[in-house]
Amino acid sequence: MDQALLPGLYIVATPIGNLGDITLRAIETLRGVSVIACEDTRVTGKLLRLLDIKARMIRYDDYASEDDRQRLIETMQAAPVALVSDAGTPLVSDPGFRLVREARKAGVQITSLPGASAAIVALTLSGLPSDRFLFAGFLPNKAKGRADVLAELASVPATLVFYETAPRLGESLAAIAQVLPGREVAIARELTKKFEECRTGTSEELAAHYAAHPPKGEIVLLIGPPLAAEPPTGADVDALLLAALTNEKPSQAAGQVAKATGLDRKLLYARAMELRSQ
Ligand code: SAM
Repeated sequence: MDQALLPGLYIVATPIGNLGDITLRAIETLRGVSVIACEDTRVTGKLLRLLDIKARMIRYDDYASEDDRQRLIETMQAAPVALVSDAGTPLVSDPGFRLVREARKAGVQITSLPGASAAIVALTLSGLPSDRFLFAGFLPNKAKGRADVLAELASVPATLVFYETAPRLGESLAAIAQVLPGREVAIARELTKKFEECRTGTSEELAAHYAAHPPKGEIVLLIGPPLAAEPPTGADVDALLLAALTNEKPSQAAGQVAKATGLDRKLLYARAMELRSQ
């Protein structure tokens, strides 16, 4: 480092698999700070050993107590402190939001050093429209929460980007097939690592593929934007309602389909009641 770092908070992105993706500036900064705040000292300790960096680490996540956070902010006012997560960019589905917010309120000098983030790597690899995208973190674990979020986002005119785990992928693809039938989906797996893959297709095609080849490793799931608005036909609406009625009461099914299609909820409710009685 040419010059000693000034006191403050340095948000440092680290690789998501391939060590070569760390930036020169990240290495210099991690070497130059007095303290590295990290999610897990074992994970960050391993990275630091590979980079031959010796630094004091302290554990920090968003569940840290207010006192711990304030102590860390006081340290930043006197010395340079880095924030890293286990992998990728801190704050992106990782801890840091509260710390940055409070540090900003306390007038701490904050610098963010860009680097890898799985959401962006996946978006650029997927071939899905990249002019507008909406990053939505992890889908909820429970079926109802997952269907509600998908219905809420169904009409957003942008590529949707989610973080996903291998054991849940099948359930998520099934939910997408139900709530967003026919939409283009991409699964980006093990990005920047030896077995990196990116597979595209409809949720039904991808569900069949991954049922036959259970996925391993880390996953980003992307859903293409709605196709140029052809109004849904009566048969499309019936199919959506029937699918929703397998899990939901008519009022909830109507709400879900109303969110997905923009159609009137009351009319959909009346149709859901008809379908249920047939
Ligand atoms: N902050 C990180 C970032 O900027 O990418 C993300 C942290 S989040 C807790 C972890 C999730 O990111 C994983 O469950 C997976 O969905 C995604 N992820 C991280 N590394 C990945 C990789 N190499 N390939 C695919 N997805 C990855």
